[in-house]
Amino acid sequence: MEKMLKDILDKNSDLTKSGNLPTYIPELAKANKTALGICVAELSGKQYCAGDYQYSFTIQSISKVVTLILALQDNGITEVFSRVGMEPTGDAFNSMMKLEIVRPSKPFNPMINAGAIAVTSMINGEGEKRFNRILDFFKKITGNPNININEAVYMSEKRTGDRNRAMAYFMRDVGVITGDVEASLDVYFKQCSLEVTCQDVAQIGLFLANDGIVPATGERLADSEFTKLAKTFMVTCGMYNASGEFAINVGIPSKSGVGGGILSVVPGKMGIGVVGPALDEKGNSIAGIKVLEDLSKMLKLSIF
Ligand code: GLN
Repeated sequence: MEKMLKDILDKNSDLTKSGNLPTYIPELAKANKTALGICVAELSGKQYCAGDYQYSFTIQSISKVVTLILALQDNGITEVFSRVGMEPTGDAFNSMMKLEIVRPSKPFNPMINAGAIAVTSMINGEGEKRFNRILDFFKKITGNPNININEAVYMSEKRTGDRNRAMAYFMRDVGVITGDVEASLDVYFKQCSLEVTCQDVAQIGLFLANDGIVPATGERLADSEFTKLAKTFMVTCGMYNASGEFAINVGIPSKSGVGGGILSVVPGKMGIGVVGPALDEKGNSIAGIKVLEDLSKMLKLSIF
């Protein structure tokens, strides 16, 4: 398996030279553009890694899957989806276009920025408590007690996040978000700045593949109904406006982030973490997608 992973990375490593690092969060433009790594964690407890699997990157939008589950646990399905929709947009992850057009006004789904900010605003906890609950949840899911935020990325996004800020204030105006907008944005910027490796991401995948139970400890951290929902969103919206093509070519529930990471879940089988910081024009890892496509074809991992 490790040899196969290495071969797949070698085959696709040239792709890291194309694509771009994101510049709208200036600190992310300092990433190592040519890094490429993968980690596959199986339900059996075996783990296979190759390439730059120890490379640290910020989790960014992959965090949206985990915060959705926490918001569902805190509020239930009816309340969460009274404020966020269930449909893909076909637009960019940070688009605000449909927010005003659709009536009643609510973000299309929890995987785009607007929807994820609304979801984070629903997580319980006063002051510091809300982010600390999110951080603890990540630590338990990954089994990594050292996960923490990358302060430079957090500050960089907080400084430059005016598009997210604009959407959040708009959502309060129309009643999607209640309470302190800046506090919710701060938690969102922090959750996106969590620093992880492919191994951590693969463990998140494993927890989802195992329907909410961490295989290593046997501890149930989430209701299986909520992990099922999260995986379904990964299929329909996880790669934003590339989700359709990705479902056809790869066929594995996945969620990307602009840090270059991709979280993938083969239900009942494995969790996969991939990193390749060079992004395509839709904000997905350009080499990461091809690596997953090759892996899916070789191991017949498509769920369809
Ligand atoms: N923190 C990023 C943002 O809000 C997350 C986007 C992403 O990873 N696609 O723009």
